[in-house]
Amino acid sequence: MRPNKQIEDINVFMCTCAWCNKNIDETDEVFCVEAKTKRDLREQEGQIVKLLLEKTGRRISGMIVTGDSQAKLKGYDIAFMVCGPNCGKFLKKMLTEETGIIERV
Ligand SMILES: [Zn+2]
Repeated sequence: MRPNKQIEDINVFMCTCAWCNKNIDETDEVFCVEAKTKRDLREQEGQIVKLLLEKTGRRISGMIVTGDSQAKLKGYDIAFMVCGPNCGKFLKKMLTEETGIIERV
């Protein structure tokens, strides 16, 4: 893997809404949707992964939370960035239906 690839991924991830793909400005308030997957993602802590949602065929980028994060304490293992509460609501609903890969949101 190219050394800069991960940084690029993180930059794209941090400023793109996982639901509507809108650009999120650095100054905008960022909303986060957390989920627990059925996969073992411990090896990829802190990395961006593309999750293929089986029902909709969509690919969304999420960050694998690190072991000492708040999300992890709540039992989640992946976090998605969204541009607002509405996108968060839609994304959550979609993730809830992806029972093949998502355990809970
Ligand atoms: Zn959005």
